[in-house]
Amino acid sequence: MKYELDNIEVRDAITKLCNGFSSEYWQNCDREKKYPSEFVSELTEQGYLATLIPEQYGGSGLSLSVAAIILEEIHRSGGNAGACHAQMYTMGTLLRHGSTEQKRKYLPKIASGDLRLQAFGVTEPNSGTDTLALNTSAKLMENCYLINGQKIWTSRAEHSDLLLLLARTTPKNEAKNKTDGLSVFLVDIRNFINKSLKIRKISTMMNHSTTELFFDDMKVPIENLIGEEGSGFKYILSGMNAERILISAECIGDAKWFIEKASKYACERKVFGRPIGKNQGVQFPIARAYAQMRSAELTLKHAINLYEKGNDVGEEANLSKLLCADASWAAAEACIQTFGGFGFAEEYDVERKYREARLYQVAPISTNLILSYLSEHVLDMPRSY
Ligand SMILES: Cc1cc2nc3c(=O)[nH]c(=O)nc-3n(C[C@H](O)[C@H](O)[C@H](O)COP(=O)(O)OP(=O)(O)OC[C@H]3O[C@@H](n4cnc5c(N)ncnc54)[C@H](O)[C@@H]3O)c2cc1C
Repeated sequence: MKYELDNIEVRDAITKLCNGFSSEYWQNCDREKKYPSEFVSELTEQGYLATLIPEQYGGSGLSLSVAAIILEEIHRSGGNAGACHAQMYTMGTLLRHGSTEQKRKYLPKIASGDLRLQAFGVTEPNSGTDTLALNTSAKLMENCYLINGQKIWTSRAEHSDLLLLLARTTPKNEAKNKTDGLSVFLVDIRNFINKSLKIRKISTMMNHSTTELFFDDMKVPIENLIGEEGSGFKYILSGMNAERILISAECIGDAKWFIEKASKYACERKVFGRPIGKNQGVQFPIARAYAQMRSAELTLKHAINLYEKGNDVGEEANLSKLLCADASWAAAEACIQTFGGFGFAEEYDVERKYREARLYQVAPISTNLILSYLSEHVLDMPRSY
């Protein structure tokens, strides 16, 4: 497979597309807590959200590196891919574990934009970091699974037709292994909304369209089970390296945006009759953030390279997520400090991007849990939880 992380054409095309969505557009979405439908439609129409869908199903059949470029460039241009990135990172579960029939039924419509696959329901109020503690149950009936329970932080559920749902098909105390007994379903939200599925918005510090879901005897047809019953945790885990890589790319995009903004402002803003960027106290945090971003970016490229060669990239995907999220946060700090008071004014976008960048220290996996992974799986220290 061709290593395409330096695909300039895709970078330029995404930059051009993003240039059609101004600062005011993103500020307005943020202020009104509005889903950026126009932006997502444009990406869909130009085929970018079908990047990972094979050509035989109407997608472009491109690699993870192209998906990473797309997400990075959206963030680098000042936008936010949180409104649509799930279609990239949940895709692997359907591609790898879905049946041919499921792929034929759903993928062409997802590729054309007739169906949106933007919602991913794993987290529950009592199971965030500890996924295996989830309680939402799926009970096999004659021709369907009866789903009961609750999810939290299910982002974009109101803007998605399909939900990839992880639920328990075998009670925890009856499962052979603790990782058994969970199953993945592709739920057509439209069939259940405001009936056996209720959605409640959660208001957050940034515009993220996230929600709580309540299932009350929701009858999901048997044919919507993905892969084998009971193997769902394995399927979700297998997609997590790709998810971490893609989120890392967004962090690199954010870091580049903050660094560019900060260095430009440092040259333009005059205090005591000279640009603030003449002061090393202003320069150095930006230069340090740049160094941090470049090294994180190299780790990310390395992870993508290995991923595309088919290697197990557990260590590299986790390292990327850790370093890239830290790099974007360091750049955010340097940028808001460089802007002084103006960093807090909406019109400069810095405070919005600052709020958005903070999420990646916590989700989709928190920094602590990555450090636990490295401690246990790479450094062979005892499991800490
Ligand atoms: C805006 C937003 C959007 C999200 N979107 C989705 C989505 O679309 N779908 C979805 O399924 N989930 C989503 N999530 C959920 C996200 O994946 C979880 O918030 C995340 O996994 C952490 O879980 P938690 O919030 O329950 O934290 P908790 O598990 O309660 O942890 C709280 C803190 O304790 C720390 N901690 C816990 N256990 C340990 C330990 N053993 N060692 C060290 N530290 C520990 C954690 O690192 C964390 O900092 C979203 C979250 C947010 C905030």
